[in-house]
Amino acid sequence: MSTENNNKVIYENSIKILSDLISYKTVSGENNSQLIDYCDQILKKLGATSFKTFADDKKRVNLFATLKAKEQNNKLPIILSGHTDVVPVSKDWSTDPFKAEIKGDKLYGRGSCDMKGFIACALAYAPTFSSSNLNRDIHFSFTFDEETACLGAPLLIKELKKRKIVNGICIIGEPTNMKIIDAHKGCYEYTTYFEGLAGHSSTPHKGVSAVEYAARYVNKLIELRQKLKERVSKESIFDPPYSTLQIGGIFGGIAHNVIADKCYVNWETRPVVKEDGIFLNNELDKYVNENLLPEMKKVFPNSSINKKTIGEVIGFERVKKSDACEFVSSITGDNSREVVSFGTEAGLFQEAGISAVVCGPGSVEQAHKVDEFIKLDELKKCLKLLEGIKNKSTEID
Ligand SMILES: [Zn+2]
Repeated sequence: MSTENNNKVIYENSIKILSDLISYKTVSGENNSQLIDYCDQILKKLGATSFKTFADDKKRVNLFATLKAKEQNNKLPIILSGHTDVVPVSKDWSTDPFKAEIKGDKLYGRGSCDMKGFIACALAYAPTFSSSNLNRDIHFSFTFDEETACLGAPLLIKELKKRKIVNGICIIGEPTNMKIIDAHKGCYEYTTYFEGLAGHSSTPHKGVSAVEYAARYVNKLIELRQKLKERVSKESIFDPPYSTLQIGGIFGGIAHNVIADKCYVNWETRPVVKEDGIFLNNELDKYVNENLLPEMKKVFPNSSINKKTIGEVIGFERVKKSDACEFVSSITGDNSREVVSFGTEAGLFQEAGISAVVCGPGSVEQAHKVDEFIKLDELKKCLKLLEGIKNKSTEID
């Protein structure tokens, strides 16, 4: 088959696979095992070996599959990484969100750009990888529940460490219009619960108002927000340059004349460096244990303040020399480096010692939106990158 014909077959196959992937309703938190089996079967037929890691319910699954090098050449293995979950849909879609539909130069469907498009390209390209004389391993890493604080990836990465897969180049194909992203902030979400003692509002000294203690806690957060600003480094590449903090909601109380015994606060912080997250949590815990709690317990010993971690997606830090970024640049010729404001699994791979880069088809503009789509051209660009990876993994040097 001519190269041109072969490319056409691969492209058409990527559309077919993407349509199949979209048809699996893999909303975060729900069963994704059928989609994972589908991917596993495609790769197994090509001779890949694989292992799975599971959530407690066994219904949410990560897949890690490997096409082994025919001849090891001490080249860093490549990990093509994508999350299989998608965000929920609303009723406002003009098409069925779980049925891929091509209109003009776009393919519509939930997950088309975030990020089943990348997974489809990787799977469509896999036959070419497997029939090539690979001189490095090509891995496929497909996770669950990325959209809900990256719950799946840590389980997979833990297993990678056990299996001593701790170096390599990881390409996380989140939608970046194929631009090279080499950093993003972390995203930590918390809910803090306050429990005091209810009572009649005419005798506030006999109760412990959870709402009032929550208010003081929020004040402390706002004070610490200022401290985070002061900790900013001149080299920060982010906008805004400092770690941010935001109160998302305060909920508590039942009536004007009742002392509220329950209240909770939703808040989040986006640390530029993980030290900021540690600083913030230490300061906060100190304030709670040394000030708020003793005061509450003086009136009512069973009072409590509990901070629940909803998720801590660690940041992805720019490094001076990135194997992953240089690898992608050497294929695409694009030497630019950008940062994004959304979180990804990149920081988790980076923390494990694997060089990471975020680069994938489609635009984040369409992610998480009604009528999500991916431009067909973006899929072609992604396949081109994969072709470059294949060339870099077969050439003798
Ligand atoms: Zn995503």
